[in-house]
Amino acid sequence: PYDVLIVGGGPAGAAAAIYAARKGIRTGLVAERFGGQVMDTVGIENFISVPYTEGPKLVAHLEQHVKEYDVEVITNQKASSLATDELIRIGLESGATLSARSVILATGARWREMNVPGEQEYRGKGVAYCPHCDGPLFKGKRVAVIGGGNSGIEAAIDLAGIVEHVTVLEFADSLRADEVLQRKARSMGNIEIIMNAQTTKVRGDGSKVVGLSYTDRVSGDSQDLDVAGIFVQIGLIPNAEWLKDSDLNLTRFGEIEIDSRGATNIPGVFAAGDVTTVPFKQIIIAMGAGSTAALGAFDHLIRSSAE
Ligand code: FAD
Repeated sequence: PYDVLIVGGGPAGAAAAIYAARKGIRTGLVAERFGGQVMDTVGIENFISVPYTEGPKLVAHLEQHVKEYDVEVITNQKASSLATDELIRIGLESGATLSARSVILATGARWREMNVPGEQEYRGKGVAYCPHCDGPLFKGKRVAVIGGGNSGIEAAIDLAGIVEHVTVLEFADSLRADEVLQRKARSMGNIEIIMNAQTTKVRGDGSKVVGLSYTDRVSGDSQDLDVAGIFVQIGLIPNAEWLKDSDLNLTRFGEIEIDSRGATNIPGVFAAGDVTTVPFKQIIIAMGAGSTAALGAFDHLIRSSAE
C-alpha cells in the first residue's frame, strides 16, 4: 500500500504530493487530468511572487516539480469509491483498487455554467467565473454578474470598486443573498440589479464579449445589455459526488468538512483545496491546503505506527 495516496492533480494535489514525498514515504497521486482547473485558465496575476503566468505554463512547472520526487503519478483515472478497513481503499472507474495508509482528497470543483450560446466561445474573452482573478481586467468598463446569491452579490460589490458599472441579473423574482450584502450593494452608486432576467446569449464581436441578451421573464421581452465582461456566479460544484456513499462528512453543498490540519471525520483521510469547506477557492490557497493536509497525514502516520 501507499503511505499517502493523493486523489487529484490540481494545485492542492501537486503540493500535497511534494510535501509527502519529501518525508521519504511512499506517495502516489491518481488524477483524471493533471493540472485541474489551472489547465483551463489563461492569465494568472495573483500567484504571489510570479506577477504573470498562464495556466498551462504553471501546470508544466507543477508537473516538473512533482517529477523531481519519487511520486507514482497515475493519470486518466477517475476515483469512484472510498472505503476503509485496516487500510483506505480507493476504487477506480476502471475497476482497479488502490490501497493506502492515508489518503488526501483533492478533487477540486467546477463552476456551474449558464449553457447559453457564446459562453464557451467567449470563455476567457470576457466570460469569467472568478472576480478575484479577472476583476482587474475590466477596470473602468461595464460588466454583468449573473446570479443574485451570496457569491453574485459579493462579486458585484467587489467589482463595483474596480469597474465603471455592474449589472446583476437574477433569474428569480428575489435575491437569495444575505440581507447585509444586498444592503451594501444597493448603497453603491454603480450597481443595478435586474430581477426575473434569464440570460439567453453571450454576444461577441468574434474576438471578445460585447454584451449579452436576456429575457424579461415577466413581460417575455428580449433585452440587450452592452458589457465587456460577464461574471457567471451561479454556483461552484465540489467534485465530491463519488464520495456520497462513503462515511465521509459532506456539507449540504457537498463540500468535504475538514479541520485546520486538513483532517476529515475518517481517521487517515485528509482533504484539501476547492473540494473542501475552505472559504476561498484560489490556486495559492489550494497549494497551502495541500501542504497542510500532507503534513497532517504524515503526523497521523507517525502516531498510528507507534501504537
Ligand atoms: P482543481 O484544480 O479543480 O483540481 C482537481 C483535480 O482533481 C484535477 O486533477 C482533476 O482531474 C481531479 N479529479 C476530479 N475528480 C476526480 C476523481 N473522481 N478521480 C480522480 N481525479 C479527479 N485561481 C487563482 O488563484 N488565480 C486565477 O487567476 C484563477 N483563475 C481561474 C480561472 C478559471 C477559468 C477557473 C475555472 C479557476 C480559476 N482559479 C484561479 C481557481 C483555481 O483554479 C482553483 O482554486 C484551483 O485550481 C483549485 O485547486 P484544487 O487542486 O483544489 O482543484
